[in-house]
Amino acid sequence: MSDSNINMVAPPEGVVGEGFFATKLNDVVGLARANSLWPLPFATSCCGIEFMATMASHYDLARFGSERVSFSPRQADMLMVMGTISKKMAPILRQVYEQMSEPRWVIAVGACACSGGIFDTYSVLQGIDKVIPVDVYVPGCPPRPEQIVDGVMKLQELVRNESVRRRSSPEYQELLASYNIK
Ligand code: SF4
Repeated sequence: MSDSNINMVAPPEGVVGEGFFATKLNDVVGLARANSLWPLPFATSCCGIEFMATMASHYDLARFGSERVSFSPRQADMLMVMGTISKKMAPILRQVYEQMSEPRWVIAVGACACSGGIFDTYSVLQGIDKVIPVDVYVPGCPPRPEQIVDGVMKLQELVRNESVRRRSSPEYQELLASYNIK
């Protein structure tokens, strides 16, 4: 691949001079976090197959710095929930979320994770936001890999613009408290 085909991430706004570049810490941290989101795939059914396609060579999620899939919550910061979540499974999903260290973000992939999908039954959780906070919802049954990539890009936008102080803000603590998460 020639150099002309390589897209570099644009630097944050700042002051540029000969031999120096000055910007805000918030912007640099946001840029680094947004381009190194490590996914934890919590895949329970069909939508998981779409995620596999998203990771494979054609869609290649690695382009976004997310090639390092983690099956350990402690080494992941982007929880991707894909598939039907039964009420029995909900406490396990919540435990996985709690084991992730801050900062952590959540994408609900597909109708089942977003709202229970077609399974409006006694045994299926009607959306993962009943047990954990969600940052991005990706609709579809199943969503195509393009939609999953779009969801990741939406999350990157959120992460890039998030204040480094947000996690210790009263609003965020209040959000966690509303889920009874410490
Ligand atoms: S949203 Fe559709 S494709 Fe995805 S897990 Fe549910 S039933 Fe399967």
